[in-house]
Amino acid sequence: MSYKVVKFGGSSLADANQFRKVAAIIKSDDKRRFVVPSAPGKRFSDDIKVTDMLYKCCELAGSGVDFSDDLQLIKNRYNGIISELGMDMSLDEEFDTIERELKARPAKDYAASRGEFLNGKVLARFLGFNFVDAADVIVFNTKGSLLLEETVKAARERLKGLENAVIPGFYGRTTEGVIKTFSRGGSDVTGSIIANAVRAEIYENWTDVSGFLVADPRIVDKPDVIETITYRELRELAYMGASVLHEDAIFPVRSAGIPINIRNTNAPEDAGTMIVSNDHDFSRESLGHTITGIAGKKGFSSINIEKAMMNNEHGFGMKVLKVLYDNGLSFEHMPSGIDTMSITLETARLEPVRDKVIAELRREVEPDHIDVEDGLAILAVVGRRMKNTRGTVARVFAAMAHARINVKLIDQGSSELNVIIGVSENDLPEAIRRIYDMFINSEKQ
Ligand code: ADP
Ligand code: ASP
Ligand code: MG
Repeated sequence: MSYKVVKFGGSSLADANQFRKVAAIIKSDDKRRFVVPSAPGKRFSDDIKVTDMLYKCCELAGSGVDFSDDLQLIKNRYNGIISELGMDMSLDEEFDTIERELKARPAKDYAASRGEFLNGKVLARFLGFNFVDAADVIVFNTKGSLLLEETVKAARERLKGLENAVIPGFYGRTTEGVIKTFSRGGSDVTGSIIANAVRAEIYENWTDVSGFLVADPRIVDKPDVIETITYRELRELAYMGASVLHEDAIFPVRSAGIPINIRNTNAPEDAGTMIVSNDHDFSRESLGHTITGIAGKKGFSSINIEKAMMNNEHGFGMKVLKVLYDNGLSFEHMPSGIDTMSITLETARLEPVRDKVIAELRREVEPDHIDVEDGLAILAVVGRRMKNTRGTVARVFAAMAHARINVKLIDQGSSELNVIIGVSENDLPEAIRRIYDMFINSEKQ
C-alpha cells in the first residue's frame, strides 16, 4: 500500500478546534498515515507563535533572568488544547525537563524545537498514532547541514513496520547528538524528507490558504490559486519571498518524483495546488495565464560603478567580483553597460563590510564614480509559459510605466522562466498589484 505524508502548519494546530479539523482530515483518508506537525501558531493576528515564545525563554535563560512566567504561558497553551479536547494527558515531566535544560544550557535550537516536540506528543495521543522523535531520524552534520542520505536511511529504518506515526517537524540532531533546527518554517522540510523516506505517493502540506496563490494575499486582494506549478517555478517564487513553502522542502521530494499538494485545513474540500516536476504532462491542463506567479522581497542594495570604457578593460569584472569574494559576499544580479556596472546584493550582508568593500573597489578598479543605493526591492514574475509568449517583458514595463514606477534593474534568466525587476522598496506592493492586473485580471476579460 502506498501512503500519504501530511504536514500541518502552525495555524492548522493553533488550538483545540484546529486539532479537531486536523484529525478529521487524517481520519477521512486511510492513506494519511505519517503526520508531521508544526508547533502551535497564531490563533489571531497579534497572537504569538509558541516557537517565538520559546526563543524568548531561551534568551531570558541566557541572560540569567527568571523565565518561569514565560514558560508557564507556553504550558498554558498546551494544557488549554489538552483539556478542551477532553484528553487525559500531562506534560509536567516534559516541562520540568525543558526548564532544567534551559537553566543548565540555554541553547536556541533546543528551546525552539520543543514546540514541535510537545505538539507531536499531543497530536500522536489525540490520533492514537505512534510518536517518533525527529531527533532519532533527522541527522545534521556538526556544521548544521542536513545529511540527507543518512536521514532517509535512519527514517526508513525507524518507520519500517509502523502502521502510522507522528514525527515532529523543524528539528533533528547533529552527529554529535545536539538538537538542531532548520531555519524558520522548516517543518515543511521535515515533511518532505519523511515523504521520501516512506516513498509516499504524495506529500500533502496543509496550511491556512487554499494553495499557492498567484501573489501574496497580504498584497493582492483574493489572488487566484495556482492549480499546477512546477518545482522550478515554485523555487523561484519561494526564493523571492512567497513564504508558503520553505524552499529547501523541494529537493527531497523532487529527487524522488513525489508531488506536493498544498491544501487548506480550513477548507479541505478545495483541491489546492499541485507541485509537479518539469516533465509533468500538462496537455490536459486548461490553458492558464501567461504567468504563474509574482513575488518580491525588500532589503537590497546596489553598488553602482562607473568608469569610461570599462568594457575594454581586461579583467575589470573579475577584479570587482574578487573584492566581493574576499569579503564573503554573494550577489543576486549584475546588470552592466559599456561604462557602468551594478551589483545587487542583500543590504544586511553588505552592511558589516560596506566601507571596506567600497575602499577596496576604489583601489582595485579606480572607478570614475562609485556609490551605493539602498532601499531596493526585487520582484520576480515567474511562468513556464512565458518562453512561448511574446511581449511579456514589454507588458511588465507597460504596467510599471502606467503606475509611474521607476524600474531600476531588469534581468531575465536564460531559462526564460522568470523576469526580474528591481524597484524602490516603497513601490513593491503597488508593482505587484499592477503586474497582477496586467497578467491575471486583464487576461480574464
Ligand atoms: P504554515 O504555518 O501553515 O506553515 P505559513 O505561514 O508558513 O503557513 O505559509 C502560509 C502563508 O503564506 C499564508 O497565510 C500567506 O499569508 C503567505 N503567503 C505569502 N505568499 C503566498 C502565496 N503566493 N501563496 C499563498 N500564501 C502566501
Ligand atoms: N515552528 C517553526 C517556525 O515557527 C517551524 C515551522 O512552523 O515550520 O518557524
Ligand atoms: Mg510554513
